[in-house]
Amino acid sequence: MEQEQDYFNKAFQGLANRLGRSTGRLALSLGKTAIKGIGKILLSILIHTFPVWFPILLILLLAYSAYLIVLGFPMSAAEENASNQDKVSTFYAFSKNEEFLKENEDLFDKYKEIANRWDDGLSDYQKQQVETHAMSWAILMAVDRITHDPVVLGEGKEIEIKPEKVFEDLRPKFEWEESTITIEREKKECKEVIVKDKNGKVIYDEKGNPVTKEECEIVIKKYTDTVRLVTEANIIEGEFVYHYKTVTEKQNTSDGYNQTVTKEEVDYIEYPAHYFQPLYDYLASKGIKTEEDIELVIELAQIYDTDYNMSLALRQNLDYTNYPVIKGVNDWLWITPSTRVTSPYGYRSTGFHAGIDIGAVQRGIDGDPIWSMADGRVTYAGWASGYGLVVYIDHDDSIQTRYGHLSRINVKTGDYIKQKELLGLMGNTGRSTGTHLHFEIRFDDIPYDPAYYFPILK
Ligand SMILES: [Zn+2]
Repeated sequence: MEQEQDYFNKAFQGLANRLGRSTGRLALSLGKTAIKGIGKILLSILIHTFPVWFPILLILLLAYSAYLIVLGFPMSAAEENASNQDKVSTFYAFSKNEEFLKENEDLFDKYKEIANRWDDGLSDYQKQQVETHAMSWAILMAVDRITHDPVVLGEGKEIEIKPEKVFEDLRPKFEWEESTITIEREKKECKEVIVKDKNGKVIYDEKGNPVTKEECEIVIKKYTDTVRLVTEANIIEGEFVYHYKTVTEKQNTSDGYNQTVTKEEVDYIEYPAHYFQPLYDYLASKGIKTEEDIELVIELAQIYDTDYNMSLALRQNLDYTNYPVIKGVNDWLWITPSTRVTSPYGYRSTGFHAGIDIGAVQRGIDGDPIWSMADGRVTYAGWASGYGLVVYIDHDDSIQTRYGHLSRINVKTGDYIKQKELLGLMGNTGRSTGTHLHFEIRFDDIPYDPAYYFPILK
């Protein structure tokens, strides 16, 4: 069984889960306050009339959940046909303030207009160099929302947005150096000249025309131009440092010149060691520290700004071959570049967790490679309830490994697979609220704690 999920369904599944949890948080705090205020007498009345009010309460709760599901999270709101107000309402799903929504119907356009100013003041030549660092309007909007959201911040205030301020805090900052481009053009220029004798007299041929000959010279023209090259880009994803080398190119121009161009060209770019660290630091400085809230920012931006979502993949440029090979017991090899355990094996509030959860190298971003722990045979590759896209591999001695919530599967049921061979990519499918891998090791179908076999995880 294989199930194709469309992009928005998948994205909104995670989003809805998070929004649901935040609403839950709010409900919990309201509940606590309410219980404090109820006196003992009221409590005894409540206990005695339990058979009457409990069914009514249950019905009301069900009706409220139905309301939340149907109206609270309009799933289609980010799609093109949704009205502006619906889009904004979805973006601010846990602060449904009619007045706010009415006033801010054109909020998306407002953020787009502000974010578009990210490259103001740069020349076209400079813009070309840094266009991959364009600011995402949706990141701006998501950060503005989360840093001023009363539900997230735990304050009873109304939402108050500050687009200009957040833009000034987060806009890309660049450093530049001057560089010279030198162009040297060489052309052999020839012309017919009239031949004269040593007395300076023109010589004629038998027809009476002056005798001519071809005389050539090399004409050299040199131009220089000064340009500004980017040396550093400081953006919310991190610091990118540009290194240059001098190159000399020889070309033939259409008007007959041999041209030599000497200029500085990008040799290599140092990418950030920890993607989004500046964003995390910024959010932390505003009191946003939980992983869920941080990932929500990136997720919102990815959903609403598809251009940004595309360019994120290009910006990452991860070289997974640089990650060390991590050995476990039994000569098993660790299965993905990240070793960040986001949820351990064992009992937790939602029930028994038969494996461990591993976060992405770049928090919240799909696509980390998932490798097979050992040689084996793929006994299942496809969709499974809860697991989403999942791969089961049977190894020797009734050992099975399972890899869940994948965004892509690279193997088929029945395939033989080698140790460290790519079986799929990390994702967020199934019962999952953020990009991670769910990993299980089973002996005779009984799950054991993978951290026991990979001491690095402890
Ligand atoms: Zn899990």
